Amino acid sequence: MENCVFCKIIKKEISSSIVYEDEKTFAFLDISPASLEGGHTLVMPKNHYKFVSEMSDEDSKAIALTIKKLSKALLKFGEGMNIIQNNNKIAGQYVPHVHFHLIPRFKGDGITIEKWSSHKYKDNRAMEEIANKIKSLLKD
Ligand code: 5GP
Ligand code: ZN
Repeated sequence: MENCVFCKIIKKEISSSIVYEDEKTFAFLDISPASLEGGHTLVMPKNHYKFVSEMSDEDSKAIALTIKKLSKALLKFGEGMNIIQNNNKIAGQYVPHVHFHLIPRFKGDGITIEKWSSHKYKDNRAMEEIANKIKSLLKD
């Protein structure tokens, strides 16, 4: 897709620190890593999609395998790892080419992504209503 910075990186029109590439997927270092220790890697399909929900089954399977492969390396690089994938601006997506953040974790790295404040459903019924709504949306 024209004007997509990640499509340009995949086509090597813009340089990046490439970590892995195969027929369907591509991975390179995030230019602004989440911690000083680095290793923050972006994994994406070569085909352009905005959201994870738009990906073809073939690309979805390929990306899962690439994430698994890179996870093995990054779990040796750091002591732990978070996988984050943002869809749409409200969720923090700035580059509209679907990508997964693989973020190696280190003691004292100062990253707080896993520490969202948690809430309680009013009661079991309120929780069930939401589960049912999602189940009905699965049928669309
Ligand atoms: P998002 O917020 O869309 O989930 O994440 C986009 C990520 O892409 C950001 O963490 C940002 O640092 C990274 N990024 C944006 N432009 C470039 C670039 O030109 N090169 C590299 N290597 N990373 C980029
Ligand atoms: Zn793109």
